[in-house]
Amino acid sequence: MRPDRIRKVVVVGGGTAGWMAAAAISKIMGDIADFSVELVESEEIGTVGVGEATIPQITLFNQLLDIDEGDFCRATNATYKLGIEFVDWTHIGHRYVHPFGYYGLDMKGVEFHHHWLKGRSLGDETQLGDYSLGAIAGLMGKFSHPRLDQPNSPLSKIAYAFQFDASLYARYLRRMAEAAAVVRTEGRIVEVVQNSENGFVEALVLQSGARVEGELFIDCSGFRGLLIEQTLKSGFEDWSKWLPCDRAFAAPCELGGDHQPLTRSTARTAGWQWRIPLQHRIGNGYVYSSAHISDDEAAATLLANLDGKALGDPRPLRFTAGHRRKPWVKNVVAFGLAGGFLEPLESTSIHLVQSGIARLMSLFPSLRFDQEEIDRFNQQTIQEYVDIRDFLVLHYKATTRDDSDFWDYCRTLEPPEGLAYKLDMFRANGRIYRERNELFTETSWLAVMVGQGIEAESYHPAADILPDDETQKRLVHIREVIANSARAMPSQDEFLRRIGGLS
Ligand code: FAD
Repeated sequence: MRPDRIRKVVVVGGGTAGWMAAAAISKIMGDIADFSVELVESEEIGTVGVGEATIPQITLFNQLLDIDEGDFCRATNATYKLGIEFVDWTHIGHRYVHPFGYYGLDMKGVEFHHHWLKGRSLGDETQLGDYSLGAIAGLMGKFSHPRLDQPNSPLSKIAYAFQFDASLYARYLRRMAEAAAVVRTEGRIVEVVQNSENGFVEALVLQSGARVEGELFIDCSGFRGLLIEQTLKSGFEDWSKWLPCDRAFAAPCELGGDHQPLTRSTARTAGWQWRIPLQHRIGNGYVYSSAHISDDEAAATLLANLDGKALGDPRPLRFTAGHRRKPWVKNVVAFGLAGGFLEPLESTSIHLVQSGIARLMSLFPSLRFDQEEIDRFNQQTIQEYVDIRDFLVLHYKATTRDDSDFWDYCRTLEPPEGLAYKLDMFRANGRIYRERNELFTETSWLAVMVGQGIEAESYHPAADILPDDETQKRLVHIREVIANSARAMPSQDEFLRRIGGLS
């Protein structure tokens, strides 16, 4: 046994982030003798509980926890997600899908989209979305797991995520964590006790007077950042100049409209509206810039644009885009809203919790708390925020909308350096430049750049390996294969029924 081993982890907060952290840490480390996890939460304070759409990496997190998909879908009222449909972003009346998965088929050499770009230069007018199984199947209301028994078919490469009730997901993970011996303590934390010499957090004092001691503290206390900010003063990097939306109203409604495995984002005068269809209701919200629209007008806009009867009054939320300057300080690591916030335009918050947990597990500290490893954790975490920020800003920057002050601001803003470089590269020769292990793939960058009207002047010279008429023939063939594959898929409801996932 290592003498410098951490024996007690304390998680502060029982929202989605807290229970994800508690469930994962107990799954990975719970069987070690003399190791325990305790989670403190206050029902009186409550959770945010509006995060409902995810990205495909969530399937890996569920696999880590040995979660049965049918059971999970039933318990959280989950539906599948094959991508996001963006409406009115490029200009009013326009729509496109940012799908998961790939475009086209493997062209052995240069990426498919260069052949599509070449086709465009030859007069082909088909849309990039015509070559995406995720986009086509999503719009048709179809869903299937990847068909690994058909390795040469586009069906073998389906990538998917879930839309679910985040509060039910937290409850589901809580059951798992408690079954794995995580101790849950109810109570409001009123004092954080620090070591008088080195400032490390030693204990939490609850309103009842109870004291919860630990060696490593995970701050999942939400926007307030009880430990990371209020106690350890990490500081906040404010990105509102690039992402000016700072408020939202959330209003779930009864089921209505299309039942597609897609999240929808509709651009509005001063922000955008999400629509996330679950099994039992639709989650909706208007994310807006308070400098460009009043709260009353934003709430009224949301209520006027629902597919079914609202289930209660719109709920207000306030936030600032950005992240803690140091997500890990001393013996405190922050996840979830305590660590930072990026608007849910690409459904990344729950993923940021998941990747933070993975990073912590790979750099899990000893009682010596190696500062070099802490610095590495912070640098990698911040880089992930930067990469996502650049992708989000692309949606606002690449638009021709000029129908409000908000869109004038977004269209003309100076993009962050990384985004500016990516835009230049794509415009010049159709290349998608991804550095390191960026979260969003070529497909994602391509979907949003092309979807929002960024035009490439040229394509990769290797696409000329095919004679022009052969390029055109192949494009027709690929479209047919993909459309036929989508037709062969079951409807989402049928698929959910098949795996026992309907609640
Ligand atoms: P919270 O839910 O706020 O939980 C904080 C916890 O800390 C609570 O249990 C509270 O009781 C506890 N706590 C706080 N102070 C104390 C104290 N003094 N004593 C004891 N306990 C305390 N994410 C996505 O991935 N997809 C989406 O589509 C999405 N949409 C979103 C839309 C909006 C408008 C917002 C604001 C967020 C969205 N998110 C989304 C983010 C998602 O909601 C959060 O990432 C997720 O819910 C995690 O929240 P949390 O657990 O960090 O914080």
